[in-house]
Amino acid sequence: MRGSLARSVAHDRRPEPAGPDAARRYVNQWVEAEAIGEERVSAFVLILKTRGCYWADEKGCSMCGYSMDTLGRSATPEELAEQLRRALARYRDEPYVKIYTSGSFLDDREVDAESRAAIVRAFAGRARRLLFETLPEFATAERLGPLHGAFPGELEVALGLETTDPTVLARFVHKNAPPRDYLDAGDRVRALGLRAKAYLLLKPPYLTESEAIADVVRSIGEAAAHFDALSVNPVHIQNGTVVEWLYHRGRYRPPWLWSVVAALSEGAGRRGKARLVSFPTAGGLARGPHNCGACDARVLRAIEAASLAQRFEELSGLECACRAGWDAARSLEPMGVEA
Ligand code: SF4
Ligand SMILES: [Zn+2]
Repeated sequence: MRGSLARSVAHDRRPEPAGPDAARRYVNQWVEAEAIGEERVSAFVLILKTRGCYWADEKGCSMCGYSMDTLGRSATPEELAEQLRRALARYRDEPYVKIYTSGSFLDDREVDAESRAAIVRAFAGRARRLLFETLPEFATAERLGPLHGAFPGELEVALGLETTDPTVLARFVHKNAPPRDYLDAGDRVRALGLRAKAYLLLKPPYLTESEAIADVVRSIGEAAAHFDALSVNPVHIQNGTVVEWLYHRGRYRPPWLWSVVAALSEGAGRRGKARLVSFPTAGGLARGPHNCGACDARVLRAIEAASLAQRFEELSGLECACRAGWDAARSLEPMGVEA
């Protein structure tokens, strides 16, 4: 049942092939707060429009609706160059640049090798650190070498590990490869002299709130030696996903912000030398990680401040009446009561 649901959701969400106008415009661009080491910096975030993740066509991950933002076909080099030109018009030499596609920057079907080098080269001498995301099978010396040569600053390769539990990753998240492949890719990337970052998912479907916190905390400990940075990403409900399907039937609640606080507080001691951060998407919204509403903004600010400063002790001082509700909800969950 789960498999067929995942396949039909994956099929439904892929758009029809787009015309040239849509292909010349990137999906989105914004600037956000980040840190390079101790220094607070601005990060320029760009989401390119490509054919999107090949895995979304085959099965797709249970929480991922990114294929809604794709072309339904490969972008030509000229179309990618035009997206880059438009993005550069908004670039103000932010020191940190993050480039996403709705899939893998290193997959030739999404971004061809020459376009990849041209995109990276466009920020050479202007950005100090440039991040892109990829599935592990594409993080090879052959694909990374030319990019390393084209960018004199730090290249950071982000991998959506999500969890180090093989069962959770395969059966609940529906990822294409086992955790071992992601850990190995992190090692490969670092051996080439690049930075490696892993995204860890907080609260995949079918886990209780308490199981989800334990899953992330254990994953932080098991992934820390393979990555320079670990980012805890609490699930938010994206359109056209298995998670949305469950949410509409009352079978999924996005994680509490208290769970993000717990994951960071408990994970901090296991992070080794890796940076541990969380910048929740859609925080405080019904479809994103949220608490009672009254404390959400305050708790989100504290999570961001702790992430930027790498100081997690202050999170333990956060309080709100809803914290008791979070505790109570977690103790009822194993009995099948919705949190
Ligand atoms: S989460 Fe990543 S691997 Fe999974 S479908 Fe989305 S883009 Fe593809
Ligand atoms: Zn509250």
